[in-house]
Amino acid sequence: MSGGRPEGGGRALVVVGSINRDLTLRVPHRPDGGETVLGTEATFAPGGKGANQAMAAARAGARVRFVGSAGPDGTSFVRALGDGGVDVSAVEITGSTTGLAVVLVTTDGQNSIVVAPGANELLTAEQAERVVAAEEAAAEERHGGAPVVLLQCEIPIGAVVDGVRTAAARGARVVLNLAPYTPLPDDVLAVCDPLVVNESEAGQALGRRVATGADAADAALDLARRARSAVVTRGAGGAVVARAGDVTVIPGLTVPVVDTTGAGDAFVGTLAARLAADDDLVAAVRAGNAAGARAVGHRGAQPPNARTSPLPEEL
Ligand code: ATP
Repeated sequence: MSGGRPEGGGRALVVVGSINRDLTLRVPHRPDGGETVLGTEATFAPGGKGANQAMAAARAGARVRFVGSAGPDGTSFVRALGDGGVDVSAVEITGSTTGLAVVLVTTDGQNSIVVAPGANELLTAEQAERVVAAEEAAAEERHGGAPVVLLQCEIPIGAVVDGVRTAAARGARVVLNLAPYTPLPDDVLAVCDPLVVNESEAGQALGRRVATGADAADAALDLARRARSAVVTRGAGGAVVARAGDVTVIPGLTVPVVDTTGAGDAFVGTLAARLAADDDLVAAVRAGNAAGARAVGHRGAQPPNARTSPLPEEL
């Protein structure tokens, strides 16, 4: 499939990740076991950490190529990504159904999510390698900088591991959002610059509770010893960034909360876009923090003018 691709300066950003259809249900509270809760509203909208981050990066001005795998039922969502300025020519449409995420949003704006990966499970490291190699060759021809490659963990773990290794070997800057948390080999973590986690993923990675600002700063420092640099996001508390024994706290911005879905993706996509524009890491994290705060002010995983549809849609 093809899509619009704005020409811009800086490095190319290759996002390797999931694309889903998000079914969002607004509910008064999360159902307990055996309980049925009546939702107040239901919508389908584009989602998936990969697609959300690619869209956020395009919004932040990056030249973005998305590598993903969808089904025939997801073509309108892939087209929406293209309409949003993401190059979707490396998205494969497979015979499997598009990934589906069921998102419950409670009245206080908190969300609970269940994901059925579907076609995302068919994404291969070779798909990613082809695109990274092409972008690297294009950068060499232009005498430009090597691409930035951004991955998350909603695709087969083999594709993440091989994708990170190949990208780093080709000289790309690797940004890895370790979400959902997945244990990865040390050599894979070691090349990430940065490794991005929220507090709960930081806790899982380190085997201890990460709940306070001090915990997050310690976690970022410890994770930055395993990677080239690390960022811990803290919801309303902002983020902490660590590199080479230095830690910087970026305070949260005070905003009214409508729906926290996709705040992390807005943060990570914007952060990667700013790195592709050669911002330094702390400036890029500040931009991510602002984008994350903006994202909690609207419903859904992507900004309001991304395509949304009331039920029922093509199921
Ligand atoms: P998601 O809800 O998308 O899964 P996450 O758990 O991956 O998010 P968070 O740490 O909750 O990530 O949020 C990511 C970033 O979004 C934060 O670092 C912050 O910049 C911004 N953010 C999230 N929630 C708020 C909030 N209530 N107020 C201001 N900024 C917020």
